[in-house]
Amino acid sequence: ASLQNESALANDIKEEQGFKGHDMLAPFTAGWQSNDLHPLVIARSEGSYVYDINGKKYLDSLAGLWCTALGGSEPRLIAAAVEQLNTLPFYHSFWNRTTKPSLDLAKELLEVFTAKKMGKVFFTNSGSEANDSQVKLVWYYNNALGRPNKKKFIARTKSYHGSTLISASLSGLPALHQKFDLPAPFVLHTDCPHYWRFHLPGETEEEFSTRLANNLENLIIKEGPETIAAFIAEPVMGAGGVIPPPKTYFEKIQAVVKKYDILFIADEVICAFGRLGTMFGCDKYNIQPDLVSVAKALSSAYMPIGAVLVSPEISDVIYSQSNKLGTFSHGFTYSGHPVACAVALETLKIYKERNIPEQVVRISPRFQNGIRTFSDSPIIGEIRGTGLILGTEFTDNKSPNDLFPPQWGVGAIFGSECEKRGMLVRVAGDNIMMSPPFIISPEEVDELISIYGEALKATEERVKELKSQ
Ligand code: PMP
Repeated sequence: ASLQNESALANDIKEEQGFKGHDMLAPFTAGWQSNDLHPLVIARSEGSYVYDINGKKYLDSLAGLWCTALGGSEPRLIAAAVEQLNTLPFYHSFWNRTTKPSLDLAKELLEVFTAKKMGKVFFTNSGSEANDSQVKLVWYYNNALGRPNKKKFIARTKSYHGSTLISASLSGLPALHQKFDLPAPFVLHTDCPHYWRFHLPGETEEEFSTRLANNLENLIIKEGPETIAAFIAEPVMGAGGVIPPPKTYFEKIQAVVKKYDILFIADEVICAFGRLGTMFGCDKYNIQPDLVSVAKALSSAYMPIGAVLVSPEISDVIYSQSNKLGTFSHGFTYSGHPVACAVALETLKIYKERNIPEQVVRISPRFQNGIRTFSDSPIIGEIRGTGLILGTEFTDNKSPNDLFPPQWGVGAIFGSECEKRGMLVRVAGDNIMMSPPFIISPEEVDELISIYGEALKATEERVKELKSQ
């Protein structure tokens, strides 16, 4: 089998030249990258590693896109998929028809989420669809309650909630809006809770959180509380640069939201299932949400699946109003896809059996402290993170305001130095993000830190050169 693999890879290598200017309109990729560069074509995975079609091995420090929580070769997930494919590859969940894996997974999700008692689960295929569904659920709920004007959403700048029309609108990243005529007018954005970048001179973390909660309250009053339906937040902001909340932030934000009868939506698409060392981000930050979005680690990304957890207060209104409102006409062909649900059920079983949050608590100090040994680097502004998620921001003079010229591409230099040495990281401008699989071993963490250190040295050298030019 291994020889066969080798020759298949050799074939692929020959094909590689044909991949430049390939036929795929590639997501989150610039046209010049697709046209002028060879894509990195990943061919297989094993544990915390992926291999490209030339057989080069990379430590996958982002776990795919923050998602392959159990790594790339968990046989039980493959077996669960095969068994379900052999039994019932597909049936839908429309018109009161459904499948057993969908029912079992909904039940399991309600059991595993304990920050607040949830009532029902709605299945989607992705995080974006989950957040789109959040908006529709909230609007439907407010219509059922006879509050047709309570429709606006408040999200935060630098948040990432997806890239469909609505979820991109909720996201607070300009690149997702520009040229797409977004955000939609019902979405407002409030402050990003990034203490290091945005605190005032002399302001403590607690004072910063108070100021942000006051700003949120002022925005609500200005818009009219009767027009604001919901507030959405990631417990730790992910794609915006890995930003854990400052002290007392969620306590103060939740108080404001509650005061004005505004629903709280926790976007747990990255944080859920152990990434922060707790089963959910809501557990870590004492958040009692009305609605929750999950995806990614729900199936360890082996199958596309997402879900919305809905509080009983909301699902009761939706169900009790069905005489008046008729059918709840929202859903996808693949909502509750039996193969995706079977894989997700097995994933949750493994998280439980192996006590994954506890495992993350055990391994994360090695990861977090190991990377922080580089805090003194002259090109690092801030290292931040918790559990198995970490961001590095490159700035000059340790200051949030002394950004490197974007044309230097300091983040990109670091990214390619990592890639050369066999590690994949997420680069966004001068932010580097990592969220390794939950199964990463101590030796693999050490390897990750060692490659990070070497890539950092090389990047420091390059910055020195750029400065002297
Ligand atoms: N919410 C958050 C917090 C995310 O990080 C992401 C994806 N990175 C999404 C939503 C969107 O998920 P998807 O890409 O599966 O649509």
